[in-house]
Amino acid sequence: MNKNQPDTLAIDRPVLIPPGGHKKVLLHSCCAPCSGEVMEAMLASGIDYTIYFYNPNIHPHKEYMLRKEENMRFAEQFGIPFIDKDDDYENDRKEWFEKAKGMEFEPERGIRCTMCFDMRFEKAAQYAHEHGFPVFTSSLGISRWKDMKQINGCGHRAAEPYDDVVYWDFNWRKGGGSARMIEISKRENFYQQEYCGCAYSLRDTNAHRKSQGRIPIKLGRLYYGDESTVYEPQPIKIDK
Ligand code: SF4
Repeated sequence: MNKNQPDTLAIDRPVLIPPGGHKKVLLHSCCAPCSGEVMEAMLASGIDYTIYFYNPNIHPHKEYMLRKEENMRFAEQFGIPFIDKDDDYENDRKEWFEKAKGMEFEPERGIRCTMCFDMRFEKAAQYAHEHGFPVFTSSLGISRWKDMKQINGCGHRAAEPYDDVVYWDFNWRKGGGSARMIEISKRENFYQQEYCGCAYSLRDTNAHRKSQGRIPIKLGRLYYGDESTVYEPQPIKIDK
């Protein structure tokens, strides 16, 4: 164990057993705040896992890098392998926008989000199959903004084509997981994203803020545990 890592084993947690009793897991991660608790929970249970970061939905690129680098930094602290799947980033991003055509005004937790989870999980399941991971799971379901049933449906569907891969639909929120997610985010001073991730969620969140008399989101400004963050208005621009 890395001497710099927090003493996650000091927390009283049940021992987690992935499906089939396997100990090797591929963790699809969307960001550091969501994966922090999932990572510490698996570490405490002695699960050998690798992070798979594939999120071409995140827009714009500045936000993508902020989320990814925060996640990499935390993984490095634990000595956890990190697969940065952005070797074809521009094409993956174009593919995401192509797939989202006609769904630009769908609400969160609707069919655009099913497409978005499907796309990311299909790639994760394929990687698991090709690299000997019998189980894959995701940090996406820990967020209370997400529909866990929808996410689990996408996860199981992505694993279906492979005889040697299963999706682990563990509820990471339970047993205090949701509260620890926030505690860890504050402890680590993680970057705090203010919208789900895609250009359309950024647009809709800003529209909602405007309706409440609030200023638009300023990327890279808000960090967990930093109460002194000051916002400045900025124009909204969605460039594909
Ligand atoms: S709102 Fe979130 S889950 Fe839905 S399509 Fe956008 S990034 Fe994906």
